[in-house]
Amino acid sequence: MTITVGVLALQGAFFEHIQLLKKATETASPSEWHFIEVRTPQELSTCDGLVLPGGESTTMSLVAARSNLLEPLREFVKVDRKPTWGTCAGLILLAESANKTKKGGQELIGGLDVRVNRNHFGRQTESFQGPLDLPFLGADAQPFPSVFIRAPIVEKILPHHEGVQTEETQQEDVIVAPSRKVRDSVAQAATADEVEVLATLVGPAARSATEGQDGDPDKEVGDIVAVRQGNVFGTSFHPELTGDARIHAWWLQQVQAAVLKRNKLKQ
Ligand code: GLN
Repeated sequence: MTITVGVLALQGAFFEHIQLLKKATETASPSEWHFIEVRTPQELSTCDGLVLPGGESTTMSLVAARSNLLEPLREFVKVDRKPTWGTCAGLILLAESANKTKKGGQELIGGLDVRVNRNHFGRQTESFQGPLDLPFLGADAQPFPSVFIRAPIVEKILPHHEGVQTEETQQEDVIVAPSRKVRDSVAQAATADEVEVLATLVGPAARSATEGQDGDPDKEVGDIVAVRQGNVFGTSFHPELTGDARIHAWWLQQVQAAVLKRNKLKQ
């Protein structure tokens, strides 16, 4: 089976993602993988899965609009329901709602029924890194070296999309993504998925985040930093800046499973 995975290459850390995706598939895999940089709707149309890198979500969204990519991206994520992973700025773009955003200044793609709080930990100088427990990598997995750079967190899980617009649009600095109708039965099934919280910021990584501040790193429920809803996965931090390919390998397994499922249903 040949699988093509794209990395949105309009701005930000796309090169690093491609490197780690390649590293993640160095060991024997039943599929043949192609990793491509995506800058046009044509390139996107060849992809089975997509990564949206970290960087600056406002810039990415403006360049995507100028490149006529916003609508194809929404189709990819919310109509075709293909596997999509956003890191940091990428997570912001995949949220149905984001705050600390100028009205009219940024458009979202959506797909995750969450509201993110941009720049949650403050400015560039408040960036930090630390070992983070990621239970989805396995019960015995070593902590993941997570890098947070002007990172967002998921501050609220929203009701399924219909309910989002009215409540969310009433707030001043909150923007929401436009809704979409799914195309086929595979996509239809995916819309029934709920948001799963895959990781929260507690323990050592939270201690790095709250150094010199009032936060409580030992609180039992930390900030949400990784979520999945059906075909859409988002992380607040930057696995592509660590050299650790475990999350990339885990996500590529999901991509492979999704492609297999779609092929089977089409037969
Ligand atoms: N704060 C950035 C934004 O709002 C995200 C930072 C990042 O991706 N490292 O887009």
